[in-house]
Amino acid sequence: MPSQLQDSRLWLPEGINSLTPREGGEYVLYWIQVTQRAVDNFALEYAIEQANKLGLPVLVYFSLRPDYPWASDRFHTFMLEGVVDMAAGFAARGIQFVHFLDQREQVEGVDHHANLKALASRAALVVTDWFPTFIMPRQLRQLRDSVDAPVVAVDSACVVPAQSLEKAYSGARHIRPALMEHLDNWLQPVPNESPDVTTPIALPFEPTIVTAENIPDLVAGCPIDHTVPPAIGWTGGTRAAEERLAWWIENGLPRYLERNDPNVDATSKMSPYFHFGQIAVHRVLLAARAAGHKEQYDKFLDETLTWRELAFNLCRFDPKHRTTSAIPEWARKELANGEDDPREALYTDDELEYARTGDPLWNAAQRSYLHHGWMHNYMRMLWGKSVIAWTDNAADALRILEHLNNKYSLDGRDPSSYGGMLWCFGKFDRPFYRRPIYGTVRYMSLKAAKGKFDVGRYIESMEGGLLEGER
Ligand SMILES: Cc1cc2nc3c(=O)[nH]c(=O)nc-3n(C[C@H](O)[C@H](O)[C@H](O)COP(=O)(O)OP(=O)(O)OC[C@H]3O[C@@H](n4cnc5c(N)ncnc54)[C@H](O)[C@@H]3O)c2cc1C
Repeated sequence: MPSQLQDSRLWLPEGINSLTPREGGEYVLYWIQVTQRAVDNFALEYAIEQANKLGLPVLVYFSLRPDYPWASDRFHTFMLEGVVDMAAGFAARGIQFVHFLDQREQVEGVDHHANLKALASRAALVVTDWFPTFIMPRQLRQLRDSVDAPVVAVDSACVVPAQSLEKAYSGARHIRPALMEHLDNWLQPVPNESPDVTTPIALPFEPTIVTAENIPDLVAGCPIDHTVPPAIGWTGGTRAAEERLAWWIENGLPRYLERNDPNVDATSKMSPYFHFGQIAVHRVLLAARAAGHKEQYDKFLDETLTWRELAFNLCRFDPKHRTTSAIPEWARKELANGEDDPREALYTDDELEYARTGDPLWNAAQRSYLHHGWMHNYMRMLWGKSVIAWTDNAADALRILEHLNNKYSLDGRDPSSYGGMLWCFGKFDRPFYRRPIYGTVRYMSLKAAKGKFDVGRYIESMEGGLLEGER
């Protein structure tokens, strides 16, 4: 077994106790759901390792269905740009990669999993990605129930395998020592072994060939939300991730201590690439560490390791992380007590979605999601906190935040989405001074932002064309 790939990265779906390969299997199938890359991928490494033991080839399958929640041109485009890089990356490693873009409507009789099932029925073993939120936990159960071959999910998302942490942590300062304790063991380059057998496998369906040029047409043909366009300023895929990483190491990392100023391009902007697995967190951390800015690296490590993996820990241990039950009891009570406090304004879902509140800074932040598919961390905190004061109660605030975050942000639908949103409601935080509406839940003021950074400049930077709903 490669040195890094220890048992704690393997997740056996409930009810599966053995990974004894199915006899007569023609290959090891790796079904990519999350880790959309051809290198530095523990699930792939496990598949190669098992295939080499069995003297079989590896077949990698990635399909895009039209029916996942919030499916839109934005996410489809970003992932298809990633498919171009995956196709090149797998070809370079001599591994057969198959993509299928499912453009069929969700109607009776259409089984969006038919190709996967057909491929799995010929496999000795099925390997997929582990992910503790969005549609992945359900998809893993469905896969287990619909195939004969043993199924295993592999954690390529976390640096310290999520499974090695045996309890839920209530805050950064509690999980940090647990993550740091064995970090040197885990933060190592990911092995990229070669497959021994590369015999081509005949496919039971016609794969989709994706090129940079045909992506707009492919996306236009999908029954998805065409009102959310590709994000301005972003290109998906491992190559774009590598380019941004190289730029950031040179220009952003040295300024990382200025990361709370949304006008400074100091943060890595790796979150969309992490979310879609287009670059390994390992790769980014090792590159940042090697660059030699110790103080900046330590802060970056704290965000990327502590805060990110705290969010994975939350989603893993709390299946209700999409609801207010994930808010700590003290904070839930405080917010409930504040429900009758007078509000300066109550906005409708549409007014929030299309950036039509009375606050230009908040509107600019929302426009950052609408158009750019990404928002600066400091603005996300202000953005989330403000909505608590503009809605009737915490449940309503969380509902609309989740919708806006996950519909528009490239990095949405992620454990960090729920870690970040719930933080606005007091999760992972402590009580502060009492105020109306928020009680002792930490308050952040849009008005006070003026003293912290150039608000006018930020608002200006979010000017631009309008989406349909904004007009
Ligand atoms: C209301 C709200 C919503 C958020 N929604 C998301 C989301 O949908 N997806 C998402 O990835 N992050 C979310 N965050 C966390 C954070 O804002 C983003 O991860 C960060 O802004 C991404 O930019 P970056 O990659 O340049 O960050 P960097 O500062 O370069 O940090 C590197 C990486 O560390 C991780 N990270 C940084 N801050 C946090 C954090 N507070 N919590 C968890 N992980 C963190 C991310 O993976 C990030 O890419 C949210 C935060 C808030 C307050």
